[in-house]
Amino acid sequence: MPRGKLIVISGASGVGKGTVLNRMMRKRPDLTFSVSATTRPPRPGERDGVSYDFITKERFEQMIAQGQFLEYDAHADNYYGTPRAQAEEKLARGSVLLDIEPKGAMQVRRSMPDAVLIFIMPPSMQELERRLRNRGDTSEDQIRMRMERAVWEMEQRSWYDYTVVNDDADRCADEILTILADLTENE
Ligand code: 5GP
Repeated sequence: MPRGKLIVISGASGVGKGTVLNRMMRKRPDLTFSVSATTRPPRPGERDGVSYDFITKERFEQMIAQGQFLEYDAHADNYYGTPRAQAEEKLARGSVLLDIEPKGAMQVRRSMPDAVLIFIMPPSMQELERRLRNRGDTSEDQIRMRMERAVWEMEQRSWYDYTVVNDDADRCADEILTILADLTENE
């Protein structure tokens, strides 16, 4: 099996990246997901080692010092990062999906110029806010912070390779899979 592609997916919190990624993996079981490490507490329904590796701040900082992250960032009072060894191991077996925010995506772009960077937009800001509120586990303060951050994140999309709109998770997943199939065909 040839070494796969690193596929970076970014988009504001609440844009529905998780659902889109799950649809993509259902349609293309050869794609794997890079499980990030984070210091934020799990949300209801999130499983350790599946959604994220939930680790302590001390452990995260130790991993930073040891150069164990392909990229990492601190935002919303927490660390998030892609463990290098896990990503490399998965890449040796096929293409790997990374759900990371733009600062991390920029680090990936620098260290792995072959990576494909895709930005997911919400259909509108109103819809993004509605989706954040519907999560139910996010306080008013967090919603305001996440909306402010969303504006900044969306401004970053100009240096991504592709922008897609998540108006419908299935359609959006298909659009990304078509982009990836076209890239493979043109190699
Ligand atoms: P959430 O707390 O809602 O799961 O994620 C917040 C943000 O962190 C999302 O934009 C997500 O893409 C980003 N994120 C998740 N894992 C990583 C990671 O490993 N590295 C970076 N840089 N961002 C991440």
